[in-house]
Amino acid sequence: MSHIRITQLLKTRPIGQTVEIKGWIRTRRDSKGFSFLEVNDGSCVANLQVIAEDSLPRYQEEILRLTTGCSVRISGQLAASPAKGQTVELKAVEVEVYGWADPEIYPLQKKRHSFEFLREIAHLRPRTNSLGAVARLRSALSFAVHRFFQEQDFQYIHTPIITTGDCEGAGEMFTVTTLDLNNVPRKDDRPDFSQDFFGRQASLTVSGQLEAEIYCLALGNVYTFGPTFRAENSHTSRHLAEFWMIEPEMAFCDLAQDIQVAEAFIKYLVQYALDHCPDEIELFANFVDKGLRARLTAVLAQDFARITYSEAIDRLKTCGKKFDFPVAWGTDLQSEHERYLCEEVFKRPLIVTDYPKKIKPFYMRVNDDNATVAAMDILVPGLGEIIGGSQREERYDRLLSRLEEMGLKPEDYNWYLDLRRYGTAPHAGFGLGFERLIQFISGMANIREVIPFPRTPGSATL
Ligand code: ATP
Ligand code: MN
Repeated sequence: MSHIRITQLLKTRPIGQTVEIKGWIRTRRDSKGFSFLEVNDGSCVANLQVIAEDSLPRYQEEILRLTTGCSVRISGQLAASPAKGQTVELKAVEVEVYGWADPEIYPLQKKRHSFEFLREIAHLRPRTNSLGAVARLRSALSFAVHRFFQEQDFQYIHTPIITTGDCEGAGEMFTVTTLDLNNVPRKDDRPDFSQDFFGRQASLTVSGQLEAEIYCLALGNVYTFGPTFRAENSHTSRHLAEFWMIEPEMAFCDLAQDIQVAEAFIKYLVQYALDHCPDEIELFANFVDKGLRARLTAVLAQDFARITYSEAIDRLKTCGKKFDFPVAWGTDLQSEHERYLCEEVFKRPLIVTDYPKKIKPFYMRVNDDNATVAAMDILVPGLGEIIGGSQREERYDRLLSRLEEMGLKPEDYNWYLDLRRYGTAPHAGFGLGFERLIQFISGMANIREVIPFPRTPGSATL
């Protein structure tokens, strides 16, 4: 007989039948003549309650020694449970211990541990209720991302992780090299990357967008979903050095359609989480963020709010609130500005459009005012920016002058310009940070809790 996962057991409820489960002990309580064992196998939030009577073989020597973290195989008969809040329980016939967990030193105890403490034990933290729930939510939503796009005939494109071009034309990239760091060959006072593995300087990708555009202008609608790396020294609760980004890119699409897809995408993912991870959401709403349910239902109930960057600046200037960072047209919105607009003014997700071209990358399409670009950011309450997107500049001459204006060398972007030389088409896309999404849907305050192995400045375990 093969074992059954607890999630399956609770769905099918084979009352009266003999079943076998395998998992880890959460707690043991002893009563007169028997013990209650709470077993979790990682398949769902719920534990299964097991009744182990003292007539079982090795009851004294083994069952009475079971502690939090021990792994076991238990077979027995499933019964409807008389206990409150418990639909079924297992009457053990056989208990086998696979692995003991010395209670003197096992770091996870029954009490709740702080997330900071759990980060220090990256190898054990998925055994906790909350981090296990995050892992299942991540898995479910990864599938939902693919489902959303595949249902609409988008093609999934694998863009490179090692790249030789910087998407934003800025620094903050991790270099990938096999040069001998103790003896780096130099030329013209800098490392001579012509002697490096690829014969040129290579880095970890900061975005797959530019490469996705190539496939977009051949296949129509595409998306990427992969790891992304930023060497920025941001010590915030919303930045990681390694994160996962989803980047759809759509041909024959303008900013308005881009926004429509982005809004529908977020709503789809929130609905998917509510439908497929109800117990995880329940746990987050009870123990992580009391306001979670209200926030998630607000996402589904209404259209997202809209404002242009220029309107946003006006509102911030006249709202009478004091900000740490000054508000002026032409400077980027700071987190405090975004959160004020989103949380206090609109109280729901907010789409900010048409940013000044000076503060946005070269590839965004210049508006007719020649001062702003067809860009959009989606901000959500409690978090700030979750999506950044734009219509791309498809006009060859405009793109060329933008590159020059920004001090970039057009010869470095020849292939990108080619896409505008040959069969150019209006197109648009956006980037959604997968961890920001998981933060939003779980209510986790720190982004380090929503990725299995967080990488941040000064910290990378395993
Ligand atoms: P921010 O202003 O928050 O630093 P950004 O404007 O630099 O973000 P984009 O280049 O627009 O980010 O990237 C698209 C999306 O990727 C962002 O909206 C966000 O959801 C996510 N993202 C960006 N940087 C990070 C990071 N360091 N860690 C996690 N997610 C990130
Ligand atoms: Mn952005």
